[in-house]
Amino acid sequence: MSLPILPPAMLGILGGGQLGSMFTVAAKTMGYRVTVLDPDPNAPAARFADRHLCAPFDDAAALEEMAQCAAVTTEFENVNAQAMRDLARHTRVSPSGECVAVAQNRILEKARIRAAGLQTAPYQAIERSEDIQAACNDLLPGIVKTATLGYDGKGQIPVKTLQDVQAAFERLGGVPCVLEKRVDLRSEISVIVCRLDAQHIATFDPAENHHENGILAYSIVPARLPEDLRNRAREIAVRLAEELDYVGVLAVEMFVVGDQQELLVNEIAPRPHNSGHHTINACLSDQFQQQVRLMCALPPAATALLSPCCMGNILGDVWGDDGSEPDWQPLQNHPYSHLHQYGKTAARKGRKMGHFTVLADNADSAYQTARRLHALLKKD
Ligand code: ADP
Ligand code: MG
Repeated sequence: MSLPILPPAMLGILGGGQLGSMFTVAAKTMGYRVTVLDPDPNAPAARFADRHLCAPFDDAAALEEMAQCAAVTTEFENVNAQAMRDLARHTRVSPSGECVAVAQNRILEKARIRAAGLQTAPYQAIERSEDIQAACNDLLPGIVKTATLGYDGKGQIPVKTLQDVQAAFERLGGVPCVLEKRVDLRSEISVIVCRLDAQHIATFDPAENHHENGILAYSIVPARLPEDLRNRAREIAVRLAEELDYVGVLAVEMFVVGDQQELLVNEIAPRPHNSGHHTINACLSDQFQQQVRLMCALPPAATALLSPCCMGNILGDVWGDDGSEPDWQPLQNHPYSHLHQYGKTAARKGRKMGHFTVLADNADSAYQTARRLHALLKKD
């Protein structure tokens, strides 16, 4: 185990959105200093960081500054994995550029999931038109997804016939894609795993995720599934982190499929995840503190869930057309609800502006309360 990096060391993060912002708060609270690299002058993390390098992610001078930090991490997967590798020659970088590169590309990602002995939905890589052949029929109806740069359901087209696959491939720009069979989803869950090395690894209780328009709307914890299945999901996440020799916080999204409740790994994110935001208010430690600890070569903290809860996302959709604020009162008045706002200046439809976490006696009631409070946000 390398020597731990202790406060008041300077930590660096690539990206200053809401994830970088919550990371910064955690790091500052723990006594560290933080440098954020983000080209947006209004980046949420800049509210709390000691230094904001307002420059593109490939800016040589800015990356040189980042290399001076005692350790560097990232808030998103679409960073230049090469920049991460370059930084690693000067300072401690987690996760590794290699892990980030795997998470950036669905083709590499699925291959690694299978190499770990784990299951994915049946799929085939479509890198050129010639890859669309009769064998693809077994994967229909399916979904064509771009191999890189997809998020929140973007870069995906549902397909029923080989002609659809061809058309989808062309519409997506002829870039490398995967064709994935549509599976009989019973629920979607995710596990956040925190790994320093083979001896030091912890997982949070799986979250049950509900999407609306391709964007995460609610995460219910614990996931309403049998305990053995939840434990299996945690084991799968650990297995994958081991396979990648992962250092840091890794989110593993899984599908629960069919009557047998089979667990398929859907995708991974090499960072804290939207479905782990409840950990701030409902667990012994939170995913951002864990990110700080692991990048500093400290072992993960205990992860126990202290109360059933439900996290709800707050999108720009609940602002008025004239930009007027949502009605915050009901959320603020509720004694078991915690509101987090990201400090973004412009509220656009589909943009993540904040979230809230409701604690309750059980997962069902947390979910119901969260839905009720969410519905009250939008003024009519
Ligand atoms: P993103 O990168 O946009 O999160 P995902 O691969 O997670 O992309 O897909 C987004 C959502 O689409 C999933 O959360 C799930 O609800 C649905 N979905 C994706 N793949 C499949 C599939 N093979 N079968 C059924 N539903 C799927
Ligand atoms: Mg997803």
